[in-house]
Amino acid sequence: YYEQIQQSGNLKITGQLAAAVAHEIRNPLTVVKGFLQLFEQDSSFSPDRKGHFTLMIGELNTAEQVISQFLSIAKPENEKAPETVNVKQVLQSVTDLLHSYGHLHDNTIELTVTEDCSISANTIEFKQLLINIIKNAIEASNEGDSVFVSARREKDEVIIKVVDQGQGMTETEVASLGTPFYSLKSKGTGLGMMISFNIVEKYNGKMDFQSAKGQGTTVTISFPAI
Ligand code: ADP
Ligand code: MG
Repeated sequence: YYEQIQQSGNLKITGQLAAAVAHEIRNPLTVVKGFLQLFEQDSSFSPDRKGHFTLMIGELNTAEQVISQFLSIAKPENEKAPETVNVKQVLQSVTDLLHSYGHLHDNTIELTVTEDCSISANTIEFKQLLINIIKNAIEASNEGDSVFVSARREKDEVIIKVVDQGQGMTETEVASLGTPFYSLKSKGTGLGMMISFNIVEKYNGKMDFQSAKGQGTTVTISFPAI
């Protein structure tokens, strides 16, 4: 019991710290984006160069989104009401987005959605969840492997599966998922899974991992269907 209390206290401090860091990062990002927007309008730059500025602004927008996302989890008072999310649409846009990321490692993402299904959630948060899970699957994959993403409706649930054929995890590693800053990657943050579990829980979902070292991982996420 005592351990539990201490753990939730640690989590609270970690959350506050992360929120403060996120704030401090957002300000310089805004300044850099402002200058890039000026350059983008500046006729002394070549169209090629302007294209680069547009790309950089797009990337900064993504970074800003991630930070806002994170802040909304760390400080749940800026809540928005859940909306009806079309799972197929979001999965399509997320896999499109991650297509080039997978390409870097020569991985393909194969998406199967058999029918339209919807859940009640915040679209940005749901996207964030899927990006975190699919990115992890790509990062765990060996060169040339495929990542399989699927969604289907089963009774009153929407079931999303992300299957990779990558490095897999031991039982202990699976048990560590969601612990703040737990990462086995040299450049990992160890925040993706913590955020993902938060989002799943917030919309009454469940997330389950089946994994075998050296064989791959299947992540099964389910949400109440609407
Ligand atoms: P990060 O990706 O920054 O390391 P995450 O919270 O997203 O942080 O993941 C934590 C750790 O969980 C990863 O470093 C990795 O060791 C493990 N992990 C997550 N997903 C997978 C997967 N599909 N296959 C193997 N390991 C995984
Ligand atoms: Mg990750």
